[in-house]
Order: sequence, then structure tokens, then C-alpha cells
Amino acid sequence: MQNYLSSERQDRVYLDYNATTPHAACLKNQWTSWLSIYGNPSSIHQDSRWPKTLIREARQKIARHLNCSPLEIIFNSGASEGNNSVLKSVWATFGKNRPEMLISQVEHPSVVKTAEYLTTQGAIIHWIPVNRSGQIDLNFIDQHLSDKTSLVSVMFANNETGTIFPIQQISQKAHAHGAFMHSDCVQILGKHDIQFTELQLDYATFSAHKFYSLKGTGFVYVKKTSSWIPLIHGGGQERGRRGGTENVLGIAVLHTVLDLLPEASIRIEQMKKLRDSMESRILSCLSDVSVTAIESERLGNTSSLVIAGVDGETLLMSLDLKGFSVSTGAACSSGNPEPSPVLLAMGLTRNEAQSSLRVSLGWETTEEQIVDFVNTLAEVVQKLRQLHINEKVENVSEKSK
Ligand code: PLP
Repeated sequence: MQNYLSSERQDRVYLDYNATTPHAACLKNQWTSWLSIYGNPSSIHQDSRWPKTLIREARQKIARHLNCSPLEIIFNSGASEGNNSVLKSVWATFGKNRPEMLISQVEHPSVVKTAEYLTTQGAIIHWIPVNRSGQIDLNFIDQHLSDKTSLVSVMFANNETGTIFPIQQISQKAHAHGAFMHSDCVQILGKHDIQFTELQLDYATFSAHKFYSLKGTGFVYVKKTSSWIPLIHGGGQERGRRGGTENVLGIAVLHTVLDLLPEASIRIEQMKKLRDSMESRILSCLSDVSVTAIESERLGNTSSLVIAGVDGETLLMSLDLKGFSVSTGAACSSGNPEPSPVLLAMGLTRNEAQSSLRVSLGWETTEEQIVDFVNTLAEVVQKLRQLHINEKVENVSEKSK
């Protein structure tokens, strides 16, 4: 299993796979040959043939995996673009005829911020609440769906807590009111086994760099019967649905890495076993720790911890210095001192959210790494808690002087 993928930094343990994954090792063999793919896939001459073929084959491979038509796949720059495209396309199609959208409170910022922008254009967003276990309020959906709803958007699995949502059930509710159903499926590939068609989606968004491929590449599934108005107008690329010369190298890489998918079930099972053993080790060696959404169905690779008495950012930096890469929440919000909006939406207090740590495992995570991580975490947490106690004692004695 080691050496299969290319995170070659033996001095570090990478446990932030929900933010991004290392590049698959199988890419190394092909890298140099890809450098000679320079033709523009839209050209007519022979130099365009190879890139054109690669794009066509990649599209077919994705379609086979999702069990859909290749015509339902549009390549783009990733899931932020995909999410923007879907929401803005639905708004552009229906506008004030169906101005309402139902969107979960725990979506990625590329959905939340787009929805907030659409409210400035007249859209009405009903934010679907989640409970402390991360489960979505299905009654809220029933109460707010109407013939004014154009879109329901709920992610397949949350990137911070790993909570998996009942997408098929929500799709059926949306369709019963003539609304489209979108799901941000970024955290599915390589992390969860599903029959995509069972989700009954009209739109789904994916990103290549969450599955051992390059950043800046992704695709959106747009069902044949779904409306589509391009976000980026331009040349006739992607049948006029997404202007701009395709990221041929990014697509070529994804094309190759998708060949790893047949191993996914075994890898997912391995990650889940490791994640479960990591959580029980942490819970047995550290007091005042809770696993967020532990009662819910979760991605097998994700663990969101609340570690009382320590600041998440300080913990992250201490672990980083010891060679472990983890996260306090979504990577895109790093550098943002505000606690995670996802955890707050779940009803955690600001203090709890600020004491959170996200650990996400990948296909090459080993038991040895997990044991090492848990031991280091326990050591660092105990030190930080002791420092905290010492500071408090010093403050009290300063005040009593
Ligand atoms: N949606 C989710 C759930 C994510 O985790 C991410 C990345 O962090 C995105 C969307 C954005 O994807 P991209 O980096 O391809 O724009």
C-alpha cells in the first residue's frame, strides 16, 4: 500500500485528505509523455487529435462510473466553479417565476456565498438546519418546498464532519414539487461507495484534486433534462456549455487516476477501520474529547474532534511542528479566526468550535502513522492543557497581589 501513491515525504504524516489528496504515483510514468500534449483540442489539425481523444475517453470513463451518458458530463475548473454554475444557471432559468431555493446550512462556501449573492438578485433562500449530530431537518424541507422552489441543494457528505445526508430521499421530495436537485459530491470519490444513479440528482459537482489528481480540474454532471445556462461563455467547448480551452493535462491525469476506482471499496473499508481505531484510541487516552456527529452515518475517513481546554489553531500548529498535517475545519477558511460556520450551525458553542480538529485519512494512511499520531496528539494536548492551567493560576495570583 505504501509507495502506491506519491506522498513521498517520509518525515511527515499527511492527515488532511478532505482538503486535498497527494498525486497518485501511477502518474509518474506518464508525466513526461503528457508534456508533449500541446495541441488545442478544438483545432482541426492532427496535433489536436491526442488531446481530443483524451478528453473524450475521460468523459466516457466518468460516465461509465456514474452510469450516465458522456453528454451529461461538463469539464470545468473544479467544484467551486461547478457549484457557482449550477446555482446561477437555475436562477437564470427560473428567476422570479420560481425564486426560492432550499440549501443546507452546512454547505461549502462556494454554495453558501453564491446563494447569498443570488439573494441580492431577488432569490429567496431557505437555509435547511441540521441538528447537533449533523442530521438534516427533513420536516423543514417538507414545510418549505412549494411550486416556488427551483432548486434544493444538499451536499452528499460534509467535508468537515463527514456526515452523509439522505440525498435520495431529499431528491424525491424536491422532484415531487417540480424542483431540481443538486448535490456537491466532492467528498464521494474514493471515500464512499455509492450507486450514483440511486441519488436521483439533476446536478452533481466534483473536483479532481480530492481524488489523487490535479487542482484546477473538475466536472459537473448535468442530467439531460436539467436546464443549463453557462457561467462562462466563450468558444464552443463542452458543446457550448462551458467556454474556455479545456485543461487537457488535468483531464488526462484524472483519466488515469480513475483507473484506481475498482480498488475503492477495499481502500474505503481500510480507512474506516483505521479511523474507528484512531477514535477509540483517542477517546481512551484523552479525557474531555468528543467526536462530532459520531451517532450519524459518516464518511469512513473523517473524524471531527472537539478537544476541551485547547485552542484548535494552537493545537494544529503544534502538531504541524511535530510533522502532522491536520486541519481545524475547511482549508479554505484557514487564516480565518472565526469558528467553523458548519460546527456553529450544528449547535456547537463558539468555544467548542474553536477547540475542534479535523483529521481526514486517505488510501495510503497506515496503522503505524495513526498510532504515532494518537501518541503525539495525547502528548501535545496534555502539554497545552497544563499550560492553560498554569496561565490561569498565574492570572489569579497576579490579581490577588
Ligand atoms: N465542495 C466541497 C465539499 C469541498 O470540500 C471543496 C473543497 O474544499 C469544494 C467544494 C471546492 O472544490 P474546488 O477546490 O475544486 O473548487
